[in-house]
Amino acid sequence: MTKINVPLLDLVAQYQEIKPEMDAAIQRVLDSGHFILGPEVAAFEKETAAYLSVAHGIGVASGTDALLLALRALEIGPGDEVILPAYTFFATIGTVLHVGATPVLVDIDVQSYCINIEQTRAKVTSATKAIIPVHLYGQAAEMDALTEIAREHDLSIIEDNAQAFGAEYKGRKTGGISDIGCLSFFPSKNLGGYGDGGMIVTNNLELAEKIRMLRAHGWKKKYFPEILGYNSRLDALQAAVLRVKLQHIDRWNDGRRKVAHVYSKALTDTPNLKTPYEAPNRKHVYHLYILQMKNRDQVQEKLKEAGIGTSIYYPQPLHLAEPCRELGYTEGDFPVTEKASRETLAIPVYPEMTAAQIEYVIDVVKRSI
Ligand SMILES: *Cc1c(COP(=O)(O)O)cnc(C)c1O
Repeated sequence: MTKINVPLLDLVAQYQEIKPEMDAAIQRVLDSGHFILGPEVAAFEKETAAYLSVAHGIGVASGTDALLLALRALEIGPGDEVILPAYTFFATIGTVLHVGATPVLVDIDVQSYCINIEQTRAKVTSATKAIIPVHLYGQAAEMDALTEIAREHDLSIIEDNAQAFGAEYKGRKTGGISDIGCLSFFPSKNLGGYGDGGMIVTNNLELAEKIRMLRAHGWKKKYFPEILGYNSRLDALQAAVLRVKLQHIDRWNDGRRKVAHVYSKALTDTPNLKTPYEAPNRKHVYHLYILQMKNRDQVQEKLKEAGIGTSIYYPQPLHLAEPCRELGYTEGDFPVTEKASRETLAIPVYPEMTAAQIEYVIDVVKRSI
């Protein structure tokens, strides 16, 4: 078999496809001389909120800051508990620790890799203030059940939608389903900028106004802070880049889904290999295409030798991360999470992949298991 190089992601190929409009958008910002917030950011906030069918979008410096400011806006702090899955990117828990609240971890669901509903329900106490479901790998968490738990106990839900821009749950766009949605525009995300960026979306005007203050030193009127805020603003160049990309996101997400479905059809009956589960009432946008297998490290090595890029999301569960040590968790607490961290592997999935590349990845995976 001839070797074909297949990187995990190809942002250069994506840029080449939209180069004229992208170059024009960047030039427009350079010509305007306006680089932080301003009309470009305001337009992008409006367009994103409309896309997600929410009232307000507030551009911030990163997805991590989106989570941080969301927690601050909800006045979550010391003494408060926040329930979140043990298997996600570190920012989901790091921001909870930063505001001084206590993260309460639960395991993930075996099929979807999203937050386990029964455990979430069982972990609610009188100190619980919020749940942070993560729409991991591009598929929505079980939002109806979470909404019910939240209503019953008067909790807020903060959707970590960093990996699922354009995903749907029962026909509704994720990020816009709960009180607050947090978006990341990190370059590798489905809607990625050319640098860091993030956004908070909400239907709640009061929260939106507070977040607008929090992102700019806590002031409405310049130099007169009313609350303790941050410097966490989206810049105009990123907004211009993202406005161009927003025009293409549905086509790109469909392209990801097509690649994923070819993979799944070809690999689903392979022994000792688990392909992604796609819930029937959800639109999975395949931020990552995740395979699970016992001999993961060996398979990763074989794919590498064959020129195929892979990555592990995530090699360490949150409860075993050093900054979480004082929470008192130990190995064995979250078996599904721990198994996933040992056995999952992301393989290339992006709309620019050629048929030859897709076939090649399938062949090499089959031979490597
Ligand atoms: C990427 C990511 C974040 C953080 O986003 P940044 O823009 O990199 O700060 C948060 N949560 C999840 C699940 C992510 O994948």
